[in-house]
Amino acid sequence: MKLYHKILILTLLQLVAIFAFGIYQIQSLYLAQEKAFEQKIVLQNEIVSQRFGETLKQLQSSADILSNSQEVTTGLISNDTDMLYNWSHLFLTPSVQKIHFIDLTGTVISRGEAEFRFGDNLSTRSYFQQALREGTFLGIDTVDGEECLVYAKKIRQYGERPIGIISVALAIDEGVLASLAKGTSLDIAYHSSHQVISTSKKTPFIRTTSSHSIFQGNNTQEAVFSIGLTRYEELAVFQKTRTNLFLSIALIFSVLLVALHFTLHKHIKEHEQLVQLLIDFYENHLDIKTMVSHTRHVLTTCSTPEIKKTARALLNMGEKIANTQEALELLSTTDALTGLFNRRKVEACLDQKLKEGARETPFALIMIDIDHFKMINDTYGHEVGDYVLVDVAKLLQASVRQSDILGRWGGEEFLLILPKTSPEGALRLAEELRFALEQHVSSAYPNRISASFGVAHYRPKDTANLLIRRADIALYRAKHNGRNGVEYEA
Ligand code: GH3
Ligand code: MG
Ligand code: MG
Repeated sequence: MKLYHKILILTLLQLVAIFAFGIYQIQSLYLAQEKAFEQKIVLQNEIVSQRFGETLKQLQSSADILSNSQEVTTGLISNDTDMLYNWSHLFLTPSVQKIHFIDLTGTVISRGEAEFRFGDNLSTRSYFQQALREGTFLGIDTVDGEECLVYAKKIRQYGERPIGIISVALAIDEGVLASLAKGTSLDIAYHSSHQVISTSKKTPFIRTTSSHSIFQGNNTQEAVFSIGLTRYEELAVFQKTRTNLFLSIALIFSVLLVALHFTLHKHIKEHEQLVQLLIDFYENHLDIKTMVSHTRHVLTTCSTPEIKKTARALLNMGEKIANTQEALELLSTTDALTGLFNRRKVEACLDQKLKEGARETPFALIMIDIDHFKMINDTYGHEVGDYVLVDVAKLLQASVRQSDILGRWGGEEFLLILPKTSPEGALRLAEELRFALEQHVSSAYPNRISASFGVAHYRPKDTANLLIRRADIALYRAKHNGRNGVEYEA
């Protein structure tokens, strides 16, 4: 398996483990929260139901207390509107809004909530009829045009003789429903055959936690109080937080993965670059200088210390090889005595020039041979002979152009390649060199030195042998003509 995949999989496994743990924790937290919320809702539902029951009880207890009062009994018998008003008025609360005393014919004798309003007939009302018939009524009926929770009860003198009816009522409106649901997350709605009232505009509830059916007086239908939820706000906050956390985890995961990929990719690429450089060098696709320059580039661009270290080592090794190669090349192309190019190098240069010959301006060749050199050796010794060779080499080298190629061809023979030179130019230079040598005074050799010059010029389809042969022929002619001269072979 590749290093890239190994690191990627290992890191991925770690990340997955960490994130899975994180997700598990978040989910557990959310479930605990959900459970707490459910428990709270159950509790709140009980509270609202209890308040509802208490509201009904309050109606009943107000009616019971009033119906057992001696003053009320007296007031009813004597039709004492004022007395009944004064008594019942004290019992009015936000939960007990209407208190009516009705005689057995259905005529209102007194109203607790309105001192001067009496005399109207309620004999057709269900709550009156049922209370008259059965003793009590607990349900919903229309009182003064409003749908109310009504408790009505027959009042008896000495517990026996019916003398009238008391009805207590609470109008069902949004305020009453709101006070039932107050302080909870729940809403309460009222549905009857005539209307729908709710503490929330959002109906129906997304969940009804309980409902209370109550007999509706005017007919046999039932009105229903429903308690329920219209929103999961608290839970929604948690749901949102959970979703955000999951999204954040997914985002972090993706970013980490991309960052990991790029980091790995970059580092491994740099490493592979170095390896490829080595392979290319080894397989001869790259020369040492190119390899060194590419390695230097990797060294300056890479950011990983380990790879920098490898690149530096490779660079040092490459530079060492390049230096050795350079020294070896110099050694293999230089004549040890004169410091000029040796014959091998001159031959290579000549081949190169011949290849270029067709495209570039034709070149010339001068073969130079020191005259009577054997005699110098014989007379003054080999060392002096060597010195003369070096002296002549220096003089020739100093007299030619930078672009000219001068090399030692043999013992005391030199070959001069003159690029972009006409035959006339070559002859002129040969003559200048000949004259310079003739004039030269050597410090280690008392006599004058001279040399003979054979000049040839490039011809199309020339080979090295042909060209050198012509230079040789010219040189031979110069020797034959008495030496210290210049000859040209066309
Ligand atoms: P010519 O004028 O015909 O050229 O006569 P020459 O004596 O120069 O020619 P020849 O070829 O007979 O002699 C060349 C001599 O150069 C022979 C050889 O001993 C000598 N020689 C060759 N290489 C070296 C060298 O490296 N150092 C020295 N001192 N002598 C060398
Ligand atoms: Mg000679
Ligand atoms: Mg010779």
